[in-house]
Amino acid sequence: MSDCLIIGGGAIGMMSARTLSMAGACVTLLDQRECGKESSWAGGGIISPLYPWHYSDLVNELSIASQAVYGDLCATLFEDTGIDPEYIRSGLLMMDEYNTLKAQAWMDKYKLTTSTHPKGGLFKNIAQVRNPRLLNALKADILKRGVEIVEHTKVDDLIIKDNIALGAKTKNKDYYADNTIICSGAWSSSLLGDDGKIFPIKGQMIIVKTEVNALEHIVLDQGHYIIPRKDGQLLIGSTMEDAGFDRSTDKQVGDELLAFAAERLVQLKGAKIEHHWAGFRPASKSDVVVGKHAQLERLYINTGHFRNGLNMAPESANRIKNLIC
Ligand SMILES: Cc1cc2nc3c(=O)[nH]c(=O)nc-3n(C[C@H](O)[C@H](O)[C@H](O)COP(=O)(O)OP(=O)(O)OC[C@H]3O[C@@H](n4cnc5c(N)ncnc54)[C@H](O)[C@@H]3O)c2cc1C
Repeated sequence: MSDCLIIGGGAIGMMSARTLSMAGACVTLLDQRECGKESSWAGGGIISPLYPWHYSDLVNELSIASQAVYGDLCATLFEDTGIDPEYIRSGLLMMDEYNTLKAQAWMDKYKLTTSTHPKGGLFKNIAQVRNPRLLNALKADILKRGVEIVEHTKVDDLIIKDNIALGAKTKNKDYYADNTIICSGAWSSSLLGDDGKIFPIKGQMIIVKTEVNALEHIVLDQGHYIIPRKDGQLLIGSTMEDAGFDRSTDKQVGDELLAFAAERLVQLKGAKIEHHWAGFRPASKSDVVVGKHAQLERLYINTGHFRNGLNMAPESANRIKNLIC
């Protein structure tokens, strides 16, 4: 029997596993596929909400606390695992909204300013990580710390007795633990039985290759963005589609994303799309959910991070650890 059973090995589940195991807990983590291959892999890795004033105070608190530790966290992961998450403070150039009253009020509240730039407002301190690298580093790190990872193992149901969560049922085995933590991303509602409160919002993204340093900052305009990676790859995203768990991509959408980028970076005209994929953001009908289950004892929820799960993962994990330990 473990101290903690985590259901779901995305950024949220693996970061929770790391934090709990560093606090001395014995952790088992179950994933229905492989760890770090769903939304956390599909995302852009911007370590900030896109337009932070669109979000609740809770999202902003989780984001700001996470941003404060992200650089050191990535450096430690690199040192301990040899895998570099490529945390880069590339800055984010916002071409719209940065000069609205709402944006200004948010900046006043959080004591932030933009630097002037000929094309918009530049948030100099916004960073990015390279998702697959961060996830590989997290997985290697938690394995080293003794977390038991069980992949290709779907949790079909929770084991509940007298209003207490005792663990999880899978096809081959029942897992018992002192504490069960649901970190199942867009799939969380099937375990919570909460009538679809957490649901998938599909996002399509493309990659094109260009010269290294063709773009200095992340560029954000009209809800779409271009993220320059260290090796010259540019990620261009993304769509917001209420389409259930449909993983298909659409050529026209890819072409539209490329056209958006080429309007802002002329050398991308006629560029070739190297990859095109889709992922499922865990959207929530209320807000991000980080805490104890309202009715069931020994059950915790860390989900509904929607467009900001990479960004909010460290502090979300920290809050769950503080509740349990
Ligand atoms: C196109 C796109 C762009 C994005 N860009 C950004 C960005 O720039 N910055 C940012 O911060 N966020 C971004 N996001 C959002 C971010 O990716 C998510 O908020 C975050 O990945 C959620 O992490 P998670 O661990 O909750 O979910 P996931 O990574 O989806 O992990 C959930 C895991 O649970 C497992 N699971 C589910 N059900 C079960 C079950 N019953 N039994 C066992 N295992 C189960 C799944 O297999 C999966 O591995 C983006 C998302 C998308 C799709």
